[in-house]
Amino acid sequence: MSNSLITDYLVIGSGVVGMAFVDTLLSETDANIIVVDRYAKPGGHWNMAYPFVTLHQPSSFFGVSSKELSRGDIDMIGLNKGMGDLATGAEICAYFEDVMRHRFLASGRVRYFPLCEYHGDGQFTAKLTGKRTAVAYRKLVDATFMTIAVPSTHTPNFTVAPAAQFMPLNNLPSVTEKPAGYVVIGGGKTSIDACLYLLENGVDADEITWIRARDAWLLDRANTQPTEAFFSTSVGALAAQYESIGSAKSIADMFQRLEECGYLLRLDPATRPRMFHAATVSRAEIVELQRIKNIVRAGHVTAIESHRIVLHEGEIATTPAHIHVDCSASLERSFGRKKPSPVFVGDCITPQMIRAYQPAFSASMAAYVEAHYADEAEKNRLCTLVPMPNYDVDFIPMTLAMIINQYNWSQDDALRRWCRQNRLDGFAKLIAEMDRDDRQKTDIMRRIQAGVMPAVAKLQQFSAELADGARK
Ligand SMILES: Cc1cc2nc3c(=O)[nH]c(=O)nc-3n(C[C@H](O)[C@H](O)[C@H](O)COP(=O)(O)OP(=O)(O)OC[C@H]3O[C@@H](n4cnc5c(N)ncnc54)[C@H](O)[C@@H]3O)c2cc1C
Repeated sequence: MSNSLITDYLVIGSGVVGMAFVDTLLSETDANIIVVDRYAKPGGHWNMAYPFVTLHQPSSFFGVSSKELSRGDIDMIGLNKGMGDLATGAEICAYFEDVMRHRFLASGRVRYFPLCEYHGDGQFTAKLTGKRTAVAYRKLVDATFMTIAVPSTHTPNFTVAPAAQFMPLNNLPSVTEKPAGYVVIGGGKTSIDACLYLLENGVDADEITWIRARDAWLLDRANTQPTEAFFSTSVGALAAQYESIGSAKSIADMFQRLEECGYLLRLDPATRPRMFHAATVSRAEIVELQRIKNIVRAGHVTAIESHRIVLHEGEIATTPAHIHVDCSASLERSFGRKKPSPVFVGDCITPQMIRAYQPAFSASMAAYVEAHYADEAEKNRLCTLVPMPNYDVDFIPMTLAMIINQYNWSQDDALRRWCRQNRLDGFAKLIAEMDRDDRQKTDIMRRIQAGVMPAVAKLQQFSAELADGARK
């Protein structure tokens, strides 16, 4: 049995990207929208997240623009003490469900098809009934492009012997018996979360072995607080970032300066980070993580056997009594295979990152541009892709593209005004409404204005050097 429907926008995916896009489309147009997702609930990968997950950034600029996610609290305890609240996975899922029910569906303009697999060509199938639906649409929104692999659902790219105890970090809360030790596999933010979970729950740091193929540059969460109280830290960090880049003598010198000014952090001062995935941590978390001394840097794991772990560049001993914690779902493998396309191509819209680190804001901006601009070239100019970083040096093209987009947006009065009232922007409102008589704040703004062009020039020079290096 099949069904046919007609809509203005057919949106595939109700993760943060699909939700933020639809929310802005609802605000800015009178369009009808169909949302299809294979999961039972909106929220995308947050439905599969580990029980102790939280946002990495303050809740106040995550989610959809029209509804606040933050409780407005400053954390009084724990490793995020003194900073804006970080929503838990459960809070995020409840939030998206609320947005779906009370805003999207209540509007009468959105129809939602959970538990449905999209096949392309406007066709999807309900997983429980097998019923097929064909949709005639004006525009297709592929809100699945930025999906990322998570440990609970990905397939590791190494073999695991049946005798080995191996689990995604999702299963750590079900451990009931002390193992001989914990081996955490992965160098990204999930591995950081796994290690912090173990330490916070009293596991001795010496009982943790951390396999980190690459170390990463990290962002300081104190610099991401979009509130008055943090103006000099957050907006000041932007000024310091531009100054560090602009005065750098080389790429290595740029990273050194970015670290010295507190824009970038790392776990081990003796190891040069080769990775940059924009993971965000607090300084208290760094101190805690530095208690772990058993760091294995011998490349990626190729096999977990019953009594040894084989890596690209060596092996270490293990036992069936050790728990191996999988945090190896890779951002690189999630994005590496995908070829970015412009956001707007004919009747297809593919929201992607147009402001670094901000999938929610990026999707909301794409919807605003879709609603208010007609010319495809102009739409794509305003939504120029900001490349996803993987290696340390990817920081360079990413930051350059982000600054250029920001400049283009600032030249458009309507867009600038819209950014100010979009809670996902985080900082535009804070800066627009700052007290012009506050000397400290106006000094920071002057430093940003003076620093931006030298930073752009240096990023262009470094990008050219990287391109030259790649050609040789
Ligand atoms: C632990 C963790 C913490 C994070 N913290 C932050 C943070 O603090 N701030 C931040 O900005 N970002 C954060 N991110 C990253 C951010 O969540 C992701 O970049 C973003 O969620 C990607 O969202 P998405 O909507 O593109 O993908 P997803 O959440 O994966 O959603 C895609 C949706 O598409 C559906 N789908 C895919 N294909 C089909 C199909 N064929 N048919 C039907 N449905 C389909 C899926 O079911 C899914 O629901 C975090 C990520 C992780 C893993």
